[in-house]
Amino acid sequence: MESVPHSDTFDPGEGRGIAILGSTGSIGTQALDVVRAQPGRFRVEVLTAGRNADLLIAQALEFKPNAVAIADASQGQKVRDALWEHDIKAYSGQDAIAQLVEMDGIDIVLTALVGFAGLRPTMNAIAAGKHIALANKETLVVAGGPVMEAARQKGVDILPVDSEHSAIFQCLAGEFHNPIEKLILTASGGPFRGRNRDELATVTREQALKHPNWDMGAKITIDSASLMNKGLEVIEARWLFDIPAERIEVVVHPQSIVHSGVQFEDGSIKVQMGLPDMKLPIQYALGYPQRLANSFPRFSFTDYPSLSFEQPDLTTFRNLQLAYDALAAGGSAPCVLNAANEIAVAAFLQGEVGFLEMSDVVEHALSSVEHVAQPDLEALFGLDTLAREAARSRVRPS
Ligand code: NDP
Repeated sequence: MESVPHSDTFDPGEGRGIAILGSTGSIGTQALDVVRAQPGRFRVEVLTAGRNADLLIAQALEFKPNAVAIADASQGQKVRDALWEHDIKAYSGQDAIAQLVEMDGIDIVLTALVGFAGLRPTMNAIAAGKHIALANKETLVVAGGPVMEAARQKGVDILPVDSEHSAIFQCLAGEFHNPIEKLILTASGGPFRGRNRDELATVTREQALKHPNWDMGAKITIDSASLMNKGLEVIEARWLFDIPAERIEVVVHPQSIVHSGVQFEDGSIKVQMGLPDMKLPIQYALGYPQRLANSFPRFSFTDYPSLSFEQPDLTTFRNLQLAYDALAAGGSAPCVLNAANEIAVAAFLQGEVGFLEMSDVVEHALSSVEHVAQPDLEALFGLDTLAREAARSRVRPS
């Protein structure tokens, strides 16, 4: 794996140039906390948002990026009006986000926007030779093969931000030539761990949005409750670490202290541990390969006298099994799984489907969209649209 310039090469006056896509979200705001706490290390070049113009403007006034973009075109004028006299360029629309990542001065792009919308800007950033700090797991779920191949050809790093994948990446430091027996991906189990299907049939949006350990955006919080998040992470791990699904084991660990691990051929297991705080994996990716001193709260073993581990319940939480099946089917299946899941989660949040029906929506799309064995990138965009239509037809049958 090529490495990004070593942090020793940071110019203290300039720092590493970063673009944060999705700066107004959970990962984006925590990334800005990291930047704020590391004066001189990072230079914010670009910030982007979906529709939260007020927060984007406030962030721009604080961090003085070269440019910002907002996906919602109706918010564009408001952002431009607020920033023009501060010499900060402001653009709007989805295309603007995809184009801004190519700007000179950006060394690394943090992809912290949510869903399929992350794919195009990530591919553009790779093509422009920018390293990627990847939070947007959907990118690798949809197009893991093309994304990793483009990164290899351009010699850019895909540095994981997801805490599980960051943990595995940290365990692999210094081990790149040692064969891996299996990856161990931990899962908190979410708010409904231990519930049966009868109980899950009536859970509410509010209950599903209450994650026991992590404070995250709405989509990933629902994915965590349904275990789809873990399924997406299995697919993400398959591409990031080039390990087949049968050697990626999911273990439920309700305390979220062991963030994941690697078992090597000699049977030795390395894990990475710490309190559940996304700022650490965000900082590790942005500062890689250096570990930057910080004042985040520290983990103490004596505060956690018992850490527990159990098998996931794939019968109750069907989404995890659906993701394993989609990965095994390959080709277009993970793209269809992802698109249908985005529709299913949005429908659940709108009260249009129940918690268990989300799996039905995904299954319906997987069985009704024709399988394509080796879709290229453009084909994946078409398949995403088809899968969304199929999923919508299951949400609101005509
Ligand atoms: P949030 O919903 O909190 O934030 C999403 C960000 O993306 C916001 O800035 C939002 O803008 C922006 N956005 C939403 N839709 C679009 C769009 N269509 N085009 C452009 N920008 C858009 O999500 P999270 O921060 O929780 O998650 C971001 C990604 O990171 C996801 O892929 C998630 O799976 C992954 N991740 C998140 C973790 C977490 O702890 N939160 C942990 C590991 C991975 P606006 O605010 O203006 O709507």
